[in-house]
Amino acid sequence: MPDLLADLAAIVGAGHVLTLPQDTAPYTLDYRRRYQGQPLAVVLPGSTAEVAALLRLCQHQQVAVVPQGGNTSTCGAATPDNTGRQLVIAMQRINRLRAIDTANNSITVEAGMTLAVLQQLAVEAGRLFPLSLASEGSCQIGGNLSTNAGGLAVLRYGTMRELTLGLEVVLPDGRVLHQLSGLRKDTSGLDVKQLFIGAEGQLGLITAATLKLFPLPGAHATAWLGVDSSQAAINLLSALRQAFGDRLTTFEIMSQPCQQLLEKYHPGQLPFIQPWAVLAELSDSGDSHHLQQLLVDWLATQNLPDGVLAHSEADRQQLWQLREAMSETQKRDGPSIKHDIGLPSSAIPAFLEQCATALSRAFPTVRIIAFGHAGDGNLHYNISYTRPDNAHLFEDEDSVNAIVYDLVYRHQGTLAAEHGIGQLKGHWLQRYQDPTALQLMRGIKQLLDPLGLMNPGKWLSPP
Ligand SMILES: Cc1cc2nc3c(=O)[nH]c(=O)nc-3n(C[C@H](O)[C@H](O)[C@H](O)COP(=O)(O)OP(=O)(O)OC[C@H]3O[C@@H](n4cnc5c(N)ncnc54)[C@H](O)[C@@H]3O)c2cc1C
Repeated sequence: MPDLLADLAAIVGAGHVLTLPQDTAPYTLDYRRRYQGQPLAVVLPGSTAEVAALLRLCQHQQVAVVPQGGNTSTCGAATPDNTGRQLVIAMQRINRLRAIDTANNSITVEAGMTLAVLQQLAVEAGRLFPLSLASEGSCQIGGNLSTNAGGLAVLRYGTMRELTLGLEVVLPDGRVLHQLSGLRKDTSGLDVKQLFIGAEGQLGLITAATLKLFPLPGAHATAWLGVDSSQAAINLLSALRQAFGDRLTTFEIMSQPCQQLLEKYHPGQLPFIQPWAVLAELSDSGDSHHLQQLLVDWLATQNLPDGVLAHSEADRQQLWQLREAMSETQKRDGPSIKHDIGLPSSAIPAFLEQCATALSRAFPTVRIIAFGHAGDGNLHYNISYTRPDNAHLFEDEDSVNAIVYDLVYRHQGTLAAEHGIGQLKGHWLQRYQDPTALQLMRGIKQLLDPLGLMNPGKWLSPP
């Protein structure tokens, strides 16, 4: 062990090998405080060459590696186990801007850069990098890629997979995959970079990426709308798409219990409470006043029960803050069993109705908090019990999950639309994923990481 620590220090510098509990603590507990590990050490490399040397050493010494970005995973994907034998490689020092090409609308950055810094660099160049998450101040580009992150603008711009043009990745044996291309079309063989997007650090360590930029939208029209049912919300989504095409950037829904929670913790800020609330936003490069007028005129033809429009940037921010307060508000209200499911948008109403019926039959005090990015079919579907039963909530977690996931898959959905699999959902993935797809994934893992050293204990590890 002392030899290994000395070898690590020789690569990254002694000051970048952390072993004291007070130094390693921020890297060993996950965001939701559900998983706590104990690492061999935490190392902070400063370059791709150092990452390559680290992985070569780990391969040679058969040391397991846990890549870590901003440690905002909500499923324990970046937490080491508690054997004291896994090495956390934390990426925050590899965080430089490598190149920006405004004519090609692309930017190349290192994996340890936070998402917020990347967004700001894009704005300074007069461009938009559209990925937007509530964790953007802490999460890193490498983490966003490894979880195929989505967020508030997936409806228009897609997830991290769609935003990626090229990658630089260090493979488990220390070889470096150099594919930092800014090309939008390339038919020269298989697109191998795709393997590392959504792989949760189990196939290699991403050190840099070339990502798409977009024109910075100058105009926004944002509305908070009330509708009578989830079906009415999905009908509204369809009608908005038809009327405004790509200008529809965001379409978020919140059930009535969500609105009641917001009212409880942010009294007086909600415009109204309706069976369902929708936050819809249009954007384009024209003039806000014109875009808002188009939306007002269109809404006047829709006969909705309630609605308010943002007339200024301050109004718009206020509406967005309400939506973004949802996760934190629910956290304040007590624990819940969380699901980040994905469904075809058209299946959302039937799923919601059937799942509520099945859950209330099995658990009479159930409370369902459903909200999310309905525009791309991604819902946060969080379950708690009314007090005092909530103290026993997690005793029923497996039964609750089985009801939710059975119905999700019956509607051709997914159990992980956003937050990944990590340690939390590995056994559920084995149950619901297509067996041929799982076989292929395991074959790729075997090819790239035959010793199973990259992020072991997560979903690609042998059962
Ligand atoms: C308040 C809050 C809101 C959130 N909202 C959203 C949301 O809207 N949409 C969404 O998609 N997610 C959301 N998340 C989840 C989380 O922020 C994302 O999954 C994010 O992409 C993780 O980035 P990270 O840098 O924190 O990665 P980490 O948590 O550090 O790691 C996540 C996974 O990526 C791997 N990894 C990290 N860096 C690398 C690298 N350089 N190379 C290889 N593997 C690596 C890790 O091993 C781990 O498996 C939210 C989380 C919080 C706490």
